[in-house]
Amino acid sequence: MAVLPLRFEGDPVLRAKARPVAKVTKRIQKLLKDMEETMYAADGVGLAAPQVGVLERLIVVDAGEGPIHIVNPVLEKGEGTDIDREGCLSIPGVYGYVERYARVVVSGLDPKGKPIRIDGDGLLARVLQHEIDHLDGILFIDKATGLYRVTEEDREGGAHREEPEPESLGEKASFEAGDPS
Ligand SMILES: [Zn+2]
Repeated sequence: MAVLPLRFEGDPVLRAKARPVAKVTKRIQKLLKDMEETMYAADGVGLAAPQVGVLERLIVVDAGEGPIHIVNPVLEKGEGTDIDREGCLSIPGVYGYVERYARVVVSGLDPKGKPIRIDGDGLLARVLQHEIDHLDGILFIDKATGLYRVTEEDREGGAHREEPEPESLGEKASFEAGDPS
């Protein structure tokens, strides 16, 4: 496995539409493993292939229950709404509040090419929607309200900010300073 270099906002690859994977090959399996390692190395909870410069429909997520790899993920169903904080490994230090479905069903293929369905709520639902957006060139900043920036100084010094909910920074229950995707 290998940690892959991340692409950052401003890179056109993040604004392009990723193409479906025709067949789950060894190359795809290795790429998913590398994406997983890259996600963990960056302390993220999700990663989409365009974030490592690959325009193919692949995502990895770990909302606290272990890694899930999905090839050609499709949002089949969304229910309810939920607004919470998000960040993105491709837009370091920027956070905002995004309205998403509270519960989703996502279909796709697992790394063996077998059909899977993921039924998720809470953080898992949010991460799945965030990552699938990446495959269509959509970034969370396109949808977010109350965007703000956290500097390294804020994180290290714990200086009080005017931003909403600074007290929850560092919690594991939602996208936080340490959990971009
Ligand atoms: Zn992201």
